[in-house]
Amino acid sequence: MKYQPIPDYHMHTPRCNHAVGEVREYAEMAIQRGLQEIGMSDHSPMPGGFDAAWRMDLNELPDYLREVESVRDEFAAKLTVRVGLEADFHPGTEEDVQMMIDGYAWDYVMGSVHYIGDWAFDNPDEEVRWEQINIEDAYCDYFDLVARSAATGMFDSIGHPDLIKKFGQRAPAGSKRVDKAESLMLEAVKASESVLEISSAGLRKPVGEIYPHSRIVKKAAAMGVPFCFGSDAHAPVEVGHGMDACLDVLQSYGVREVVAFEKRQRRMIGIREIR
Ligand SMILES: [Zn+2]
Ligand SMILES: [Zn+2]
Repeated sequence: MKYQPIPDYHMHTPRCNHAVGEVREYAEMAIQRGLQEIGMSDHSPMPGGFDAAWRMDLNELPDYLREVESVRDEFAAKLTVRVGLEADFHPGTEEDVQMMIDGYAWDYVMGSVHYIGDWAFDNPDEEVRWEQINIEDAYCDYFDLVARSAATGMFDSIGHPDLIKKFGQRAPAGSKRVDKAESLMLEAVKASESVLEISSAGLRKPVGEIYPHSRIVKKAAAMGVPFCFGSDAHAPVEVGHGMDACLDVLQSYGVREVVAFEKRQRRMIGIREIR
């Protein structure tokens, strides 16, 4: 490690049907890798059967909370474990999502966009639809949804803020429309006082890049938008993955601290190189 480890706030459990490992195994891996704090953030239940195959059911939520709380309590002396959730932003579901958020004392709730309309654009099963759409439109629609997710004010952090690039399709270089959509997204994040996640998950995906692109990190840093870190671990081995690389990017744009969450309150943690 080049840097003192910071909290990793993005990890899943098998309840979402596409992750492996018990919460305890994520915690053990975090300790092994020198982390002092993690947060579990499994894919939340959503109303109306939305994306049901890729998330927990509402009736699994109590069990999720019990497991995370019990690991949190058991590991308290050696690791801080936060109780979080990755909720989807999908227009029309806000009321139900808000009820779920209000129903528990979360440490943080991350809002993520995984759908444009009925298209799960980051789902490998729907990758073929990339061949039928206009890529520039997709990027603009995506950033518009992320902006709207921030504008709801419901979320503490905004997950993997340019997930749209996951499979490597690129908006036309220098697109003014995409540049504008990106900037409007960042202005919405800034106005809502939410936090942008810098995520190493893209390093493990076809795009092979951190989310968001360094151009977006640069713009956000200049605006004073704060960051938190997430590995988006879907297996214990991924805990803390790519943390140094993400911190290098933040450092290079003058970001000197990241956010830590507790009961939906924020505090800042300095980024420190290990000497
Ligand atoms: Zn997932
Ligand atoms: Zn996600």
